[in-house]
Amino acid sequence: MSKFLTERLSGLTPYTPGEQPKDMQYIKLNTNESPFPPSESVSVAVLNECRKLQLYSDPEVTRAREKIAQIYNVKPSQVIVTNGSDEVLNFAFMAFADEKNPLVFPDITYGFYPVFAELNHIPFTEIPLVSDFTINPHDYIGINKTVVIANPNAPTGIALSLGDIESIVKSNPNNVVIIDEAYVDFGAQSAASLVDTYDNLLVIQTFSKSRSMAGARLGFGLGNEKLISDLNTIRYSTNPYNVNRMTEAAGVAALQDNSYYMNNCKTIIENREWTVHELENLGFEVLPSKANFVFAKSDKIDGKTLYLELKKRGILIRHFTKEKICQFNRITIGTIEQMQKLIETISEILQEN
Ligand code: PMP
Repeated sequence: MSKFLTERLSGLTPYTPGEQPKDMQYIKLNTNESPFPPSESVSVAVLNECRKLQLYSDPEVTRAREKIAQIYNVKPSQVIVTNGSDEVLNFAFMAFADEKNPLVFPDITYGFYPVFAELNHIPFTEIPLVSDFTINPHDYIGINKTVVIANPNAPTGIALSLGDIESIVKSNPNNVVIIDEAYVDFGAQSAASLVDTYDNLLVIQTFSKSRSMAGARLGFGLGNEKLISDLNTIRYSTNPYNVNRMTEAAGVAALQDNSYYMNNCKTIIENREWTVHELENLGFEVLPSKANFVFAKSDKIDGKTLYLELKKRGILIRHFTKEKICQFNRITIGTIEQMQKLIETISEILQEN
Protein backbone atom coordinates (compact mmCIF):
# COMPACT_ATOMS: atom_id res chain seq x y z
CA MET A 1 0.00 0.00 0.00
CA SER A 2 1.36 3.46 -0.85
CA LYS A 3 1.29 6.25 1.70
CA PHE A 4 -1.19 8.00 -0.61
CA LEU A 5 -4.11 5.57 -0.42
CA THR A 6 -6.90 7.30 1.45
CA GLU A 7 -7.83 6.08 4.91
CA ARG A 8 -11.32 5.49 3.59
CA LEU A 9 -10.03 2.71 1.33
CA SER A 10 -7.09 1.40 3.32
CA GLY A 11 -9.13 -1.43 4.88
CA LEU A 12 -10.69 -2.66 1.62
CA THR A 13 -10.19 -6.36 0.87
CA PRO A 14 -10.57 -6.78 -2.90
CA TYR A 15 -12.40 -9.63 -4.61
CA THR A 16 -10.20 -12.59 -5.57
CA PRO A 17 -11.04 -13.78 -9.11
CA GLY A 18 -10.62 -17.47 -9.91
CA GLU A 19 -7.08 -18.30 -10.93
CA GLN A 20 -6.11 -18.07 -14.63
CA PRO A 21 -2.70 -19.84 -14.61
CA LYS A 22 -0.47 -19.69 -17.66
CA ASP A 23 2.10 -22.34 -16.71
CA MET A 24 0.32 -25.15 -18.54
CA GLN A 25 -2.88 -26.06 -20.39
CA TYR A 26 -5.46 -26.99 -17.77
CA ILE A 27 -8.94 -28.40 -18.09
CA LYS A 28 -10.49 -25.24 -16.69
CA LEU A 29 -13.45 -26.00 -14.48
CA ASN A 30 -12.87 -23.16 -12.00
CA THR A 31 -14.56 -19.97 -13.23
CA ASN A 32 -17.90 -21.11 -14.66
CA GLU A 33 -17.06 -20.19 -18.24
CA SER A 34 -18.82 -21.94 -21.10
CA PRO A 35 -16.80 -24.73 -22.73
CA PHE A 36 -18.37 -23.73 -26.07
CA PRO A 37 -17.11 -20.89 -28.29
CA PRO A 38 -19.42 -18.03 -29.31
CA SER A 39 -21.42 -18.58 -32.50
CA GLU A 40 -19.76 -17.83 -35.85
CA SER A 41 -21.76 -14.65 -36.42
CA VAL A 42 -20.30 -13.18 -33.21
CA SER A 43 -16.76 -13.40 -34.66
CA VAL A 44 -17.94 -11.79 -37.91
CA ALA A 45 -19.71 -8.98 -36.04
CA VAL A 46 -16.64 -8.28 -33.90
CA LEU A 47 -14.36 -8.23 -36.94
CA ASN A 48 -16.63 -5.77 -38.75
CA GLU A 49 -16.96 -3.54 -35.72
CA CYS A 50 -13.24 -3.35 -35.01
CA ARG A 51 -12.84 -1.45 -38.29
CA LYS A 52 -14.69 1.44 -36.62
CA LEU A 53 -12.67 1.65 -33.44
CA GLN A 54 -11.66 5.25 -34.10
CA LEU A 55 -15.22 6.17 -33.14
CA TYR A 56 -16.60 6.11 -29.61
CA SER A 57 -19.12 3.42 -28.79
CA ASP A 58 -22.81 4.30 -28.48
CA PRO A 59 -23.31 5.61 -24.91
CA GLU A 60 -26.94 4.49 -25.02
CA VAL A 61 -25.97 0.97 -26.15
CA THR A 62 -29.14 1.19 -28.25
CA ARG A 63 -28.82 -1.90 -30.42
CA ALA A 64 -28.11 -4.23 -27.52
CA ARG A 65 -30.82 -2.67 -25.36
CA GLU A 66 -33.40 -3.07 -28.12
CA LYS A 67 -32.50 -6.67 -28.74
CA ILE A 68 -32.47 -7.55 -25.02
CA ALA A 69 -35.83 -5.78 -24.58
CA GLN A 70 -37.31 -7.83 -27.42
CA ILE A 71 -36.11 -11.14 -25.98
CA TYR A 72 -37.20 -10.41 -22.40
CA ASN A 73 -40.45 -8.73 -23.42
CA VAL A 74 -39.78 -5.33 -21.82
CA LYS A 75 -39.26 -1.82 -23.19
CA PRO A 76 -35.72 -0.67 -24.12
CA SER A 77 -36.07 1.99 -21.40
CA GLN A 78 -36.29 -0.88 -18.88
CA VAL A 79 -32.82 -2.17 -19.82
CA ILE A 80 -29.33 -1.01 -18.79
CA VAL A 81 -26.30 -2.61 -20.44
CA THR A 82 -22.96 -2.76 -18.65
CA ASN A 83 -19.37 -3.93 -18.71
CA GLY A 84 -20.11 -7.38 -17.29
CA SER A 85 -22.84 -7.84 -14.70
CA ASP A 86 -20.37 -6.97 -11.94
CA GLU A 87 -20.65 -3.37 -13.14
CA VAL A 88 -24.44 -3.19 -12.89
CA LEU A 89 -24.23 -4.83 -9.44
CA ASN A 90 -21.83 -2.11 -8.31
CA PHE A 91 -24.08 0.60 -9.81
CA ALA A 92 -27.12 -0.88 -8.06
CA PHE A 93 -25.34 -1.01 -4.69
CA MET A 94 -24.24 2.63 -5.16
CA ALA A 95 -27.73 3.74 -6.19
CA PHE A 96 -30.00 1.83 -3.85
CA ALA A 97 -28.13 1.15 -0.60
CA ASP A 98 -26.64 3.32 2.13
CA GLU A 99 -26.71 3.68 5.95
CA LYS A 100 -30.48 4.21 5.79
CA ASN A 101 -31.02 1.32 3.37
CA PRO A 102 -28.41 -1.24 4.42
CA LEU A 103 -27.86 -4.38 2.42
CA VAL A 104 -28.77 -7.93 3.24
CA PHE A 105 -27.61 -11.10 1.50
CA PRO A 106 -26.91 -14.74 2.40
CA ASP A 107 -23.68 -15.57 4.28
CA ILE A 108 -22.70 -18.01 1.54
CA THR A 109 -23.10 -16.28 -1.82
CA TYR A 110 -21.17 -14.42 -4.55
CA GLY A 111 -18.00 -13.06 -2.96
CA PHE A 112 -18.24 -9.70 -4.71
CA TYR A 113 -21.29 -8.53 -2.69
CA PRO A 114 -19.38 -7.72 0.53
CA VAL A 115 -16.58 -6.14 -1.54
CA PHE A 116 -18.94 -3.76 -3.40
CA ALA A 117 -20.66 -3.01 -0.07
CA GLU A 118 -17.36 -2.11 1.58
CA LEU A 119 -16.17 -0.10 -1.42
CA ASN A 120 -19.36 1.98 -1.25
CA HIS A 121 -19.42 2.16 2.58
CA ILE A 122 -22.73 0.35 2.80
CA PRO A 123 -23.49 -1.51 6.05
CA PHE A 124 -24.56 -5.10 5.40
CA THR A 125 -25.98 -8.13 7.18
CA GLU A 126 -25.30 -11.69 6.07
CA ILE A 127 -28.13 -14.14 6.77
CA PRO A 128 -26.94 -17.73 7.33
CA LEU A 129 -28.16 -20.33 4.86
CA VAL A 130 -30.19 -23.21 6.28
CA SER A 131 -28.06 -26.26 7.22
CA ASP A 132 -28.87 -27.89 3.85
CA PHE A 133 -27.38 -24.79 2.14
CA THR A 134 -30.73 -23.49 0.90
CA ILE A 135 -31.91 -19.90 1.33
CA ASN A 136 -34.97 -19.64 3.59
CA PRO A 137 -37.16 -17.08 1.77
CA HIS A 138 -38.94 -16.23 5.05
CA ASP A 139 -35.69 -14.70 6.33
CA TYR A 140 -36.12 -11.96 3.70
CA ILE A 141 -39.87 -11.34 3.91
CA GLY A 142 -40.56 -7.76 5.01
CA ILE A 143 -36.92 -7.29 6.02
CA ASN A 144 -36.95 -3.59 5.11
CA LYS A 145 -33.42 -3.58 3.72
CA THR A 146 -31.98 -3.59 0.21
CA VAL A 147 -31.87 -7.29 -0.66
CA VAL A 148 -29.48 -9.01 -3.04
CA ILE A 149 -29.95 -12.67 -3.87
CA ALA A 150 -28.17 -14.71 -6.50
CA ASN A 151 -30.70 -17.08 -8.08
CA PRO A 152 -29.43 -19.76 -8.48
CA ASN A 153 -27.12 -19.01 -5.58
CA ALA A 154 -23.36 -19.30 -5.98
CA PRO A 155 -21.39 -21.34 -5.15
CA THR A 156 -24.15 -23.72 -4.03
CA GLY A 157 -26.09 -23.75 -7.34
CA ILE A 158 -29.38 -24.04 -5.43
CA ALA A 159 -32.31 -22.01 -6.83
CA LEU A 160 -35.37 -20.39 -5.24
CA SER A 161 -38.73 -20.70 -7.01
CA LEU A 162 -40.25 -17.72 -8.80
CA GLY A 163 -43.03 -17.74 -6.19
CA ASP A 164 -40.49 -17.33 -3.36
CA ILE A 165 -38.71 -14.52 -5.22
CA GLU A 166 -42.03 -12.77 -5.81
CA SER A 167 -42.94 -13.02 -2.10
CA ILE A 168 -39.63 -11.39 -1.14
CA VAL A 169 -40.09 -8.59 -3.70
CA LYS A 170 -43.74 -8.00 -2.78
CA SER A 171 -43.06 -7.84 0.97
CA ASN A 172 -40.34 -5.18 0.66
CA PRO A 173 -42.08 -2.44 -1.35
CA ASN A 174 -39.88 0.31 0.12
CA ASN A 175 -36.60 -1.32 -0.80
CA VAL A 176 -35.00 -2.53 -3.99
CA VAL A 177 -34.65 -6.29 -4.33
CA ILE A 178 -31.78 -7.24 -6.65
CA ILE A 179 -31.98 -10.71 -8.18
CA ASP A 180 -28.66 -11.73 -9.70
CA GLU A 181 -29.49 -14.28 -12.40
CA ALA A 182 -25.96 -14.95 -13.69
CA TYR A 183 -26.76 -18.69 -13.89
CA VAL A 184 -30.51 -18.65 -14.53
CA ASP A 185 -30.35 -20.16 -18.03
CA PHE A 186 -29.21 -23.52 -16.66
CA GLY A 187 -32.56 -24.49 -15.18
CA ALA A 188 -33.92 -21.85 -12.77
CA GLN A 189 -36.89 -19.51 -13.31
CA SER A 190 -36.16 -15.89 -14.22
CA ALA A 191 -37.93 -13.04 -12.43
CA ALA A 192 -37.72 -10.91 -15.62
CA SER A 193 -41.47 -11.33 -16.16
CA LEU A 194 -42.13 -9.49 -12.87
CA VAL A 195 -40.37 -6.20 -13.61
CA ASP A 196 -43.57 -4.59 -14.91
CA THR A 197 -45.49 -5.56 -11.77
CA TYR A 198 -42.98 -4.49 -9.09
CA ASP A 199 -41.20 -1.14 -9.21
CA ASN A 200 -38.63 -2.34 -6.63
CA LEU A 201 -37.34 -5.35 -8.60
CA LEU A 202 -34.01 -5.26 -10.42
CA VAL A 203 -33.08 -8.40 -12.38
CA ILE A 204 -29.44 -8.75 -13.40
CA GLN A 205 -28.08 -11.11 -16.05
CA THR A 206 -24.81 -11.70 -17.87
CA PHE A 207 -23.49 -12.89 -21.24
CA SER A 208 -20.52 -14.50 -19.45
CA LYS A 209 -22.00 -17.92 -18.79
CA SER A 210 -24.82 -19.17 -21.01
CA ARG A 211 -23.76 -16.93 -23.91
CA SER A 212 -20.06 -17.85 -24.02
CA MET A 213 -18.83 -14.25 -23.74
CA ALA A 214 -16.99 -14.00 -20.39
CA GLY A 215 -14.03 -12.40 -22.15
CA ALA A 216 -16.16 -9.71 -23.83
CA ARG A 217 -17.64 -8.32 -20.56
CA LEU A 218 -21.34 -7.80 -21.15
CA GLY A 219 -24.08 -7.71 -18.53
CA PHE A 220 -27.47 -6.09 -18.16
CA GLY A 221 -30.18 -5.09 -15.73
CA LEU A 222 -33.96 -5.19 -16.22
CA GLY A 223 -36.33 -3.14 -14.10
CA ASN A 224 -38.82 -0.36 -13.80
CA GLU A 225 -37.95 2.66 -16.00
CA LYS A 226 -37.24 4.81 -12.96
CA LEU A 227 -34.82 2.29 -11.46
CA ILE A 228 -33.02 2.06 -14.81
CA SER A 229 -32.89 5.83 -15.04
CA ASP A 230 -31.23 6.00 -11.57
CA LEU A 231 -28.67 3.43 -12.68
CA ASN A 232 -27.99 5.49 -15.79
CA THR A 233 -27.29 8.52 -13.62
CA ILE A 234 -24.50 6.50 -12.00
CA ARG A 235 -23.34 5.14 -15.37
CA TYR A 236 -23.12 8.63 -16.90
CA SER A 237 -21.28 9.80 -13.76
CA THR A 238 -18.61 7.12 -14.05
CA ASN A 239 -18.15 5.83 -17.60
CA PRO A 240 -20.75 6.63 -20.29
CA TYR A 241 -18.86 4.49 -22.84
CA ASN A 242 -18.85 1.47 -20.55
CA VAL A 243 -19.67 -1.02 -23.33
CA ASN A 244 -17.15 -1.01 -26.14
CA ARG A 245 -18.17 -1.31 -29.81
CA MET A 246 -16.96 -4.87 -30.29
CA THR A 247 -18.70 -6.11 -27.18
CA GLU A 248 -22.01 -4.52 -28.12
CA ALA A 249 -21.77 -5.99 -31.64
CA ALA A 250 -20.92 -9.40 -30.17
CA GLY A 251 -23.89 -9.22 -27.81
CA VAL A 252 -26.36 -8.30 -30.54
CA ALA A 253 -25.07 -11.11 -32.78
CA ALA A 254 -25.28 -13.58 -29.88
CA LEU A 255 -28.91 -12.66 -29.22
CA GLN A 256 -29.70 -13.24 -32.89
CA ASP A 257 -28.35 -16.77 -32.45
CA ASN A 258 -30.36 -17.43 -29.30
CA SER A 259 -31.18 -21.04 -30.20
CA TYR A 260 -27.46 -21.95 -30.49
CA TYR A 261 -26.88 -20.76 -26.92
CA MET A 262 -30.03 -22.29 -25.48
CA ASN A 263 -29.02 -25.59 -27.08
CA ASN A 264 -25.60 -25.35 -25.42
CA CYS A 265 -27.39 -24.79 -22.10
CA LYS A 266 -29.32 -28.01 -22.67
CA THR A 267 -26.04 -29.88 -23.26
CA ILE A 268 -24.52 -28.37 -20.09
CA ILE A 269 -27.58 -29.47 -18.10
CA GLU A 270 -27.24 -33.03 -19.47
CA ASN A 271 -23.51 -33.02 -18.65
CA ARG A 272 -24.31 -31.70 -15.17
CA GLU A 273 -26.76 -34.53 -14.50
CA TRP A 274 -24.20 -37.07 -15.72
CA THR A 275 -21.50 -35.55 -13.49
CA VAL A 276 -23.77 -35.47 -10.42
CA HIS A 277 -24.59 -39.14 -10.93
CA GLU A 278 -20.91 -40.10 -11.31
CA LEU A 279 -19.81 -38.03 -8.30
CA GLU A 280 -22.54 -39.61 -6.19
CA ASN A 281 -21.36 -43.05 -7.30
CA LEU A 282 -17.92 -42.10 -5.98
CA GLY A 283 -19.49 -41.22 -2.62
CA PHE A 284 -19.70 -37.45 -3.00
CA GLU A 285 -22.48 -35.31 -1.57
CA VAL A 286 -23.58 -32.98 -4.36
CA LEU A 287 -25.94 -30.05 -3.73
CA PRO A 288 -28.93 -29.89 -6.15
CA SER A 289 -27.65 -27.49 -8.80
CA LYS A 290 -29.57 -25.43 -11.34
CA ALA A 291 -26.36 -23.76 -12.52
CA ASN A 292 -23.45 -24.59 -14.84
CA PHE A 293 -21.46 -25.85 -11.85
CA VAL A 294 -21.88 -28.29 -8.98
CA PHE A 295 -20.81 -27.92 -5.37
CA ALA A 296 -19.59 -31.21 -3.96
CA LYS A 297 -17.74 -32.77 -1.03
CA SER A 298 -16.59 -36.21 -0.01
CA ASP A 299 -15.90 -37.79 3.39
CA LYS A 300 -13.05 -39.67 1.74
CA ILE A 301 -10.94 -36.61 0.87
CA ASP A 302 -10.46 -33.15 2.28
CA GLY A 303 -11.76 -30.34 0.00
CA LYS A 304 -8.42 -28.57 -0.32
CA THR A 305 -6.52 -31.81 -0.92
CA LEU A 306 -8.84 -32.76 -3.78
CA TYR A 307 -8.41 -29.31 -5.35
CA LEU A 308 -4.58 -29.54 -5.10
CA GLU A 309 -4.41 -33.13 -6.35
CA LEU A 310 -6.57 -32.27 -9.38
CA LYS A 311 -4.47 -29.18 -10.11
CA LYS A 312 -1.28 -31.31 -10.10
CA ARG A 313 -2.96 -33.48 -12.73
CA GLY A 314 -4.00 -30.56 -14.93
CA ILE A 315 -7.59 -30.01 -13.81
CA LEU A 316 -8.61 -26.76 -12.15
CA ILE A 317 -11.65 -26.53 -9.90
CA ARG A 318 -12.55 -23.80 -7.38
CA HIS A 319 -11.86 -24.20 -3.68
CA PHE A 320 -13.04 -21.66 -1.10
CA THR A 321 -11.36 -21.27 2.28
CA LYS A 322 -14.44 -20.04 4.22
CA GLU A 323 -14.89 -22.49 7.09
CA LYS A 324 -18.50 -23.42 6.37
CA ILE A 325 -17.70 -24.55 2.82
CA CYS A 326 -14.02 -25.50 2.86
CA GLN A 327 -14.79 -29.21 2.49
CA PHE A 328 -16.64 -28.48 -0.76
CA ASN A 329 -15.34 -27.66 -4.21
CA ARG A 330 -17.15 -25.85 -6.99
CA ILE A 331 -16.79 -27.65 -10.29
CA THR A 332 -17.79 -25.95 -13.55
CA ILE A 333 -19.62 -28.18 -16.00
CA GLY A 334 -17.68 -28.48 -19.24
CA THR A 335 -17.92 -30.77 -22.26
CA ILE A 336 -18.74 -34.44 -21.64
CA GLU A 337 -15.12 -35.35 -22.48
CA GLN A 338 -13.85 -32.91 -19.82
CA MET A 339 -16.27 -34.31 -17.26
CA GLN A 340 -15.27 -37.89 -18.10
CA LYS A 341 -11.61 -36.94 -17.56
CA LEU A 342 -12.53 -35.27 -14.26
CA ILE A 343 -14.36 -38.33 -12.95
CA GLU A 344 -11.54 -40.67 -14.08
CA THR A 345 -8.96 -38.49 -12.35
CA ILE A 346 -10.97 -38.17 -9.13
CA SER A 347 -11.34 -41.99 -9.04
CA GLU A 348 -7.55 -42.35 -9.35
CA ILE A 349 -6.95 -39.81 -6.60
CA LEU A 350 -9.41 -41.55 -4.28
CA GLN A 351 -7.74 -44.93 -4.93
CA GLU A 352 -4.27 -43.52 -4.21
CA ASN A 353 -5.57 -41.84 -1.08
N1 PMP B 1 -23.02 -12.81 -10.29
C1 PMP B 1 -22.58 -14.03 -9.95
C2 PMP B 1 -23.38 -14.83 -8.97
C3 PMP B 1 -21.38 -14.54 -10.48
O1 PMP B 1 -20.92 -15.74 -10.11
C4 PMP B 1 -20.66 -13.76 -11.41
C5 PMP B 1 -19.40 -14.30 -12.06
N2 PMP B 1 -18.26 -14.24 -11.32
C6 PMP B 1 -21.15 -12.48 -11.71
C7 PMP B 1 -22.33 -12.05 -11.16
C8 PMP B 1 -20.41 -11.54 -12.60
O2 PMP B 1 -20.26 -11.98 -13.89
P1 PMP B 1 -19.82 -11.01 -15.06
O3 PMP B 1 -19.26 -9.74 -14.45
O4 PMP B 1 -18.82 -11.79 -15.82
O5 PMP B 1 -21.06 -10.72 -15.83
